[in-house]
Amino acid sequence: MILDKFSLKGKVAIVTGSNTGLGQGICRAYVEAGAKVAGVSRRPSTETAEICGENFYNIIADLSNPSCAAEIIEKTVEKFGRADILVNNAGIIKRCDSADFTEEDWDSVMNVNLKTVFFLTQAFAKRLLKLGVGGKIINIASMLSYQGGIRVPSYTASKSAVKGITMTLANEWAKYGINVNAIAPGYMATNNTEQLRKDGERSADILARIPAGRWGTPEDLEGAAVFLASAASDYVNGFTLAVDGGWLGR
Ligand code: NAP
Repeated sequence: MILDKFSLKGKVAIVTGSNTGLGQGICRAYVEAGAKVAGVSRRPSTETAEICGENFYNIIADLSNPSCAAEIIEKTVEKFGRADILVNNAGIIKRCDSADFTEEDWDSVMNVNLKTVFFLTQAFAKRLLKLGVGGKIINIASMLSYQGGIRVPSYTASKSAVKGITMTLANEWAKYGINVNAIAPGYMATNNTEQLRKDGERSADILARIPAGRWGTPEDLEGAAVFLASAASDYVNGFTLAVDGGWLGR
């Protein structure tokens, strides 16, 4: 049955940034699809735990430093016995004119959005390679993996690089049954875009450009996240899938 290929029954996923927004939606969708989920967050994922129930386990970690990577994998395997899926969702954005952009805002964004993404992925894949089993890695990219954006130089640099390493890692690991792909969300109504949505002029400009005519929601991302975590995507490698209400096509 084709629908069975989308099931995550028996699988264990690690999802970073599990306390809110898109990460919370992905946790909910994975549990509904049959997986057990280790959600990583720097603040307790209390609401997500309430939504997901006993198949959710919260690991507290600050992803601004990649030294937590090995422990995240260890704790997941200790709790659920395995780790098949990694979703690198946690991310931050700093908005400022490029002429005034600080080194601190450059480093903080690059650390969470790129450096820890790479080293957590490395720790996750090392275990799979050692065991000789496949797995699924999904990076959350952005429209700014394709476009320049405005006043967000470190965010654009990090998300363009996320799309790049998604391809690099797929090139190395596809032959081992490890799929590395990314999802590029369009403009979604979460904390990440709160500032933009509060700016009447920017908000109206953005909305006018989205062919679907509305901001996206965490629910809009769930189908793509389940697909890329499931056997239905076994021959999809190194691709960044836009879930953007048509934004990139404009
Ligand atoms: P969000 O609500 O701000 O969620 C970001 C998540 O990352 C939160 O759980 C946040 O935790 C976590 N996080 C940030 N820094 C962390 C750290 N040092 N350690 C651990 N966790 C950390 O925004 P979102 O929209 O759901 O963002 C999820 C991903 O989608 C991000 O990678 C973002 O760049 C990407 N994205 C979003 C949009 C959009 O329109 N919303 C578009 C394209 C891409 P706290 O709550 O503690 O800060």
